[in-house]
Amino acid sequence: MNIHEYQAKALLRQYGAPVSDGRVVMKADEAKAAAGELDGPLWVVKAQIHAGGRGKGHFKEKEAGEKGGVRLAKSVEEAEELTRQMLGRTLVTHQTGETGKQVNRIYIEDGSDIERELYLALLVDRGTSRVSFVASTEGGMDIEEVAASTPEKIVTFSVDPASGLSDFHGRRVAFALGLSGPQVKQCVALVKNLYRMFIEKDMEMLEINPLIVMKDGNLKALDAKMGFDNNALYRQPDILALRDETEEDPKELAASKFDLNYIALDGEIGCMVNGAGLAMATMDIIKLFGAEPANFLDVGGGATKEKVTEAFKIITSDPNVKGILVNIFGGIMRCDIIAEGIIAAVKEVGLQVPLVVRLEGTNVELGKQIIGESGLNVIAADDLSDAAQKIVKAVKG
Ligand code: GDP
Ligand code: MG
Repeated sequence: MNIHEYQAKALLRQYGAPVSDGRVVMKADEAKAAAGELDGPLWVVKAQIHAGGRGKGHFKEKEAGEKGGVRLAKSVEEAEELTRQMLGRTLVTHQTGETGKQVNRIYIEDGSDIERELYLALLVDRGTSRVSFVASTEGGMDIEEVAASTPEKIVTFSVDPASGLSDFHGRRVAFALGLSGPQVKQCVALVKNLYRMFIEKDMEMLEINPLIVMKDGNLKALDAKMGFDNNALYRQPDILALRDETEEDPKELAASKFDLNYIALDGEIGCMVNGAGLAMATMDIIKLFGAEPANFLDVGGGATKEKVTEAFKIITSDPNVKGILVNIFGGIMRCDIIAEGIIAAVKEVGLQVPLVVRLEGTNVELGKQIIGESGLNVIAADDLSDAAQKIVKAVKG
């Protein structure tokens, strides 16, 4: 789960990390008063969406002006005007894709005088199974671009969980960022606080881009992006309360309500599978036969008829889906339940695309019989490879 910049900054503040004072507004009428509570003489008006690259982004509507989703204002009136321009408009950045994201919240921040823009991030590194730091002097820009063109300007290291974090790590970051004098001490404190927050809040990712050196020499987190481990949210009620459902893929949101493990992808073949491993294998074999999966979906071991119906509805609501492959290995899950779920779903939402069903395992004969007698236009398959070939052929001809 991701959160907005203003929420991330509230957390940073809570952990003693330096951030600017700011106010969030949902209506343009509130902007002037909100900006008036900040010192000035510079205000930053920032569109709040769950995507980076806002500064270099553009709006779909011309009423929102030419420039991106992070703008500087010289007066509270201008801050209000910029808020009015951006609220309700669609911001497109390199991370949102062409559809963009609607801006429903604006964060107005007290402006900072920037001397240098740096990059600092923490993430869970699967390679080392540890929390890693990523630091670079090339902040403010796309880190992927820095990694591609000047990888020597990125310093990474991981923290041994047994010995934990020590001042040495903070000094290592300070050195990588080219800091000196009292900045080093500030950096050591910051690194310590970020690491503690990362662990305590079950984060997956924490990115500060840019971390700035201000004209007065002090450090400040000017932007913040945070991602949390969904599997730990049950023990992070304060984080869960920050969830903004309007930012999430509606299909993934519906899936989470029904406890389905669903991830939307870009391909054309919708998949309904039980078991994460089998779901991965199904996606692989679809690619092997020349097509792309439209989603990952594991309906789980104990899926009910209702859950299967819901899963089917989510798959068919994706306009990119040109065919559906159901691949069920009935162990705990019974094939007849799956069959009933599919039939119920098709009766409810209709079937506009080819459907290949491969059932195996408990009650497989009953499952096949139920589908056979339903009169549905289902292509039956015998094994995984047969099923994948049939759906790819049905979609691609
Ligand atoms: P992003 O484009 O979504 O990553 O948004 P950021 O919060 O990183 O802002 C983009 C850029 O706007 C930064 O890299 C800065 O150059 C600029 N910016 C943001 N806040 C301030 C500020 O307080 N003062 C000044 N002068 N520039 C700012
Ligand atoms: Mg940024």
